[in-house]
Amino acid sequence: MEIKNMQGISYRRDLCDFCGTCVAVCPHDAIELSENDLQITEKCTQCMNCVYICPVRALGGSDE
Ligand code: SF4
Ligand code: SF4
Repeated sequence: MEIKNMQGISYRRDLCDFCGTCVAVCPHDAIELSENDLQITEKCTQCMNCVYICPVRALGGSDE
């Protein structure tokens, strides 16, 4: 499995279904979602909203 780490947030594309929920809850507009990938930009403040909301647990804190 591939885990990408961006701004202290880990992301598993194999779990992600690109639902867009994380984008909707990010207070800093830090998540860029495309058809088949997700990027977290420097605007992220590690608030963890996206980590808690992701229904398939594709996002995690840096220690996961
Ligand atoms: S909430 Fe989770 S499943 Fe939905 S787009 Fe974000 S990372 Fe992917
Ligand atoms: S941790 Fe917070 S600021 Fe960073 S991408 Fe997720 S919701 Fe946005």
